[in-house]
Amino acid sequence: MPRKKIKNLQAPRGTYDILPENQIYWDKIRRVVKELGEDYGFLRIDTPIIEDTDLFIRGTGQTTDIVQKQMYSFKTLGGDSLTLRPEGTPGVIRAYIENGMINLLHPLKFYYFGPMFRYEHPQAGRYRQFYQFGFETIGGQEPVLDVQLIQLFLHILRDLGLKKINVQINSLGCPECRPAFRRALVDYYRSRKNKLCPNCQKRLKINPLRLLDCKEEKCQPVKASAPMSLDYLCSQCHNHFKSVLEFLDELEIPYFLNHQLVRGLDYYTKTVFEVWPESNQGPAENQDTKEPISLGGGGRYDNLVKRLGGKPTPAAGFAAGIERIISLIKQQGMKIPSKSNPKVFLVQLGELGQRKSMKLFEELHKAEIKVAESISKPSIKSQLKIADKIGVRFSLIVGQQEALDRSVIIRDMQSGVQETVPRDKVVKELKKRLSKK
Ligand code: ATP
Ligand code: MG
Repeated sequence: MPRKKIKNLQAPRGTYDILPENQIYWDKIRRVVKELGEDYGFLRIDTPIIEDTDLFIRGTGQTTDIVQKQMYSFKTLGGDSLTLRPEGTPGVIRAYIENGMINLLHPLKFYYFGPMFRYEHPQAGRYRQFYQFGFETIGGQEPVLDVQLIQLFLHILRDLGLKKINVQINSLGCPECRPAFRRALVDYYRSRKNKLCPNCQKRLKINPLRLLDCKEEKCQPVKASAPMSLDYLCSQCHNHFKSVLEFLDELEIPYFLNHQLVRGLDYYTKTVFEVWPESNQGPAENQDTKEPISLGGGGRYDNLVKRLGGKPTPAAGFAAGIERIISLIKQQGMKIPSKSNPKVFLVQLGELGQRKSMKLFEELHKAEIKVAESISKPSIKSQLKIADKIGVRFSLIVGQQEALDRSVIIRDMQSGVQETVPRDKVVKELKKRLSKK
């Protein structure tokens, strides 16, 4: 019988492993997001990775690319339709409504950190499972809240050591003024329909705002002179946007008015923004697609809470892509210091020595002395070799004899000098030696 070839197992397309050597970046980002988030008054929230498919249809929006093409949806054995979350905001708002948080003091400020899933064409900076952190401010309509989110986003990036970042900003208006803009856009595009890519011909029918988001070469000339949302804002939206820009000026946050910034989600009202890295020639671009790279984006979404069944509650938020941030950290050549290496190595010999040294390990840990070991290795020579490689200052050796004598050998790794000390004095002695330079 011919032997069947076993296919090598691989991570699903568009997914990847975060290997130990990369964890320093993740640790650092988690730490900065938590510390700064909490300094700005945001509290962590974790929502399920799976939600009712309907949440995203109603929240993210039926006509968005995400809902139309990018969701991982499945039927459960019980017959429900669930979806792996493609973004965080709808889940947070669902949790806000479901847990009766309407009764708490507003605005409520939350942050999250976790995986998102979108069925995309994988390429650099674009995965099918990717990670975002995001911030949401629920229950406040003041422009200052939009600005606080931008300020926090930039602060996080700055604390991660990133330079050359800018803010792209626009206002999409509200249900009062957006219809007029949409009409103008449709009128403009309709008369130029034959100059558009097939996708835009579709967008013209189902989601005209997305026409401004088209990256096809063919559509660029049309896009360049398309009507601008800012020209159609009602006085309330106009004043809101003016105030946002004044705050940004005051904070000396550099921004670009970007009339083509429409964002991929349906729920935005008024302010929308993205944060882009710059190269020397302008916005940094994806090597393959030549699209500007966005590290993250967000905006105001005053109607989402109501749309998902809550009381009308204004809100704003943003989400950032962690893989793209890490890639920029690496590109900008920034070093993240790794954790300090252990200064002590525990060497054991024989079963008794092994047993005693496990106990000693715990004691040293309690005394906050960081110890390395290779407890499964049988020979002293191979253990000392590892100790050398790690570059510890001292090794503690517990052999058969020491185990019986209740003693430990302290070996100075540089000089090779060894000294036997009583077991109950070893922590104190080690601390003394470690405190000397
Ligand atoms: P893009 O235009 O690049 O597709 P988007 O508008 O779909 O981005 P958002 O939904 O605003 O992205 O998500 C916020 C951030 O999350 C993005 O700016 C990006 O950094 C990151 N992100 C989005 N999709 C992916 C993905 N498939 N892989 C990695 N990161 C992603
Ligand atoms: Mg996208």
